[in-house]
Amino acid sequence: MANSKNVVGANKVVGFHYTLMNSKGAQLESSHGGEPMMYLHGAENIVPGLERQMEGKTIGDKFDAQIAPEDGYGVRDARASQSVPRNSFPADIEIEVGAQFTAEAPDGSIMPVWVTAVDKDTVHIDRNHPLAGETLHFKIELVSIRDASKEEVAHGHPHGPGGHHHH
Ligand code: ZN
Repeated sequence: MANSKNVVGANKVVGFHYTLMNSKGAQLESSHGGEPMMYLHGAENIVPGLERQMEGKTIGDKFDAQIAPEDGYGVRDARASQSVPRNSFPADIEIEVGAQFTAEAPDGSIMPVWVTAVDKDTVHIDRNHPLAGETLHFKIELVSIRDASKEEVAHGHPHGPGGHHHH
């Protein structure tokens, strides 16, 4: 059924509304009241556990998805935090708790890091996603499915409303 027009599968651009709660039931994020989240299926735009549960769904489907950390933002790595001098960041940018930067790993690859604390001369960063270690509770409502363009497939993300606007 993967080629069926209105079924989520590879190379479909999918729009959905969601509410994300942690395991204590506290709401972390919601798309309601704004634009739906758009993603390219099969391109790892969303956490793997949610992408798997989207497979085969159709417009109008509503479902709850409970995602373990391994299938979400990963398990928390206690060795992933680091302190770096403030002056290793450009002087003209504001550094706030929760801000995301990219850093170069020892192997030369680019990895995201998040600021967890800021002192006068030191910035504490962590490679863990802020939601690492959390079991994610999503309430999902599928609102759109369309075929991705060749360009979107090549880029690995959707363009247009709700997608990237870098062209
Ligand atoms: Zn693009």
